[in-house]
Amino acid sequence: MSAPVLTAVAWPYANGPRHIGHVSGFGVPSDVFSRYQRMAGNRVLMVSGTDEHGTPILVQADKEGLTPRQTADKYSRMIAEDLRGLGMSYDLFTRTTTGNHYQVVQEIFLALHRNGYVTARTTTGAVSPSTGRTLPDRYIEGTCPICGYDGARGDQCDNCGNQLDAAELVNPRSRINGEKPEFVETEHLFLDLPAFTETLGKWLTTRTDWRPNVLNFTRNLVDDMRPRPITRDLDWGVPVPLDGWRDQPLKRFYVWFDAVIGYFSASVEWARRSGDPDAWKAWWTDPKAQGHYFMGKDNITFHAQIWPALLLGHNGAGDKGGAPGAFGELNLPDDIVSSEFLTMSGSKFSTSRGTVIYVNDFLREFGPDTLRYFISVAGPETQDTDFTWEEFVRRTNFELANEWGNLVNRSVAMAAKNVGAVPAPVAPTAEDEQLKSLARGAFDVVGGHLARSRFRAAATEAMRVVSAANKYLSDQEPWKRKDDPERRDTILHTALQVVSDANTLLTPFLPHSAQRVHELLGGSGVWAAQPELRDVEDLDVPGREYPILTGDYAAEQASWESREIQPGTPLSKPSPLFSKLDPALGETGPEWAPIS
Ligand SMILES: [Zn+2]
Repeated sequence: MSAPVLTAVAWPYANGPRHIGHVSGFGVPSDVFSRYQRMAGNRVLMVSGTDEHGTPILVQADKEGLTPRQTADKYSRMIAEDLRGLGMSYDLFTRTTTGNHYQVVQEIFLALHRNGYVTARTTTGAVSPSTGRTLPDRYIEGTCPICGYDGARGDQCDNCGNQLDAAELVNPRSRINGEKPEFVETEHLFLDLPAFTETLGKWLTTRTDWRPNVLNFTRNLVDDMRPRPITRDLDWGVPVPLDGWRDQPLKRFYVWFDAVIGYFSASVEWARRSGDPDAWKAWWTDPKAQGHYFMGKDNITFHAQIWPALLLGHNGAGDKGGAPGAFGELNLPDDIVSSEFLTMSGSKFSTSRGTVIYVNDFLREFGPDTLRYFISVAGPETQDTDFTWEEFVRRTNFELANEWGNLVNRSVAMAAKNVGAVPAPVAPTAEDEQLKSLARGAFDVVGGHLARSRFRAAATEAMRVVSAANKYLSDQEPWKRKDDPERRDTILHTALQVVSDANTLLTPFLPHSAQRVHELLGGSGVWAAQPELRDVEDLDVPGREYPILTGDYAAEQASWESREIQPGTPLSKPSPLFSKLDPALGETGPEWAPIS
């Protein structure tokens, strides 16, 4: 039965290239999930884009001598290229600086405002005297009023651990340019989170099937909800569509507020580009639709608390009631799939400490599927996990090259050499039937894990079929059956059938090599479709162009079932599926990468 499945992928921030820690959290898991769902016959909408507002973009722009828009343009394209290289099958990967996004954010805000979930308050804010921009707490440093430490940040002191208010710092200064910030009274809009205590709390109690890390996080979430500012004094962001706010050049929505609405605005943009502007409704207003959100653990709060609150408020379904906004009643998330951190030598990846491996470098040297496999089978699915070159080389050489690559290679090579085609089976034995039934049975097991985003278990089960097939070939020794070609052909037919099944089972993890195996087995056409980077015009701002990722996934042949291979299909001598890596790489890593 076909169901609409929304895959909502966390938005990478456009202030630099992405490293493999980022894509292990939001990237690879979301794509493995989406590819499986499409193969299982569901209608997938996979959306995301680059998150391009907020102070860090301004800081990066200043550093590079660019405008904020030039900075966002530069990194949005760079990130889109990385994600294309990784094979991320987005229906739409866009940006938060589009005309469409601005309109949708403003519509959602107006519904929240009409329903009474937005309040104005006067607060004290730090402002840079030279630019007039807000200085967020983390960009202010000074002397801690409690312990006297001179490197305390505006939000907390790393020496004594106390939470601070930037206005309390002795000798405060801007970390951007060293100047002394001014503290001024400023009016801001707040999301009235306490007005969702009942409704959000009730909804959260129904979320029993989430991953333990997400459930732990949400357990006491609604006990202490405070109003949260949704605007900043900043000239880079989405304008506030209210009289008295609209024309103020320094009042913009806070970056988190517009970015989290991106899941919905990207769905609307996808629909508008598809030719049916209402097509997004199948994923957002149909109660049968399933919404799955993918992110790193530092992002749980926005997906399990803030976004559901925004949706409840928009729908007029928070504690104060109200009426749905212009888009109607929108679906809340079904699953929140949060990964833990991929670390290096026990620490988070960090550009400043030099412990970072960029996606782009990695893809250039090792291709996408080795990384996709590593993240799926050995990544931070349930706990922080250290990336080591040793483990990467071991997984690549022993599991991908020796086990899977070798099974494909010797099965196809022997059939090509002896028959020149897929051989016909004659009188299969119990051993033959047993192996084929193991492979057929794996579809339910692996599919069951993938549907619940249990990637490690799914990959492990798929590889179990590969190991069983290798053992079968070693036991049956088709290379010693010169005198009994019928038996030899039956063994090779069995092996090739299981190669075909294992290839289907591994396609969500290894879509690029799955295409090759499809062709090695004599298939033609697109088995697993890949995303394309296209330059398109902004739908609402004439003359502005930007790159998107999209693809024609309906054209792919891969489906989640065993397909009978056809005797007589011509086969030719294969080249290796995966090359083995130099074991010395496991000790040092490549020259360009830090040692782990
Ligand atoms: Zn202190």
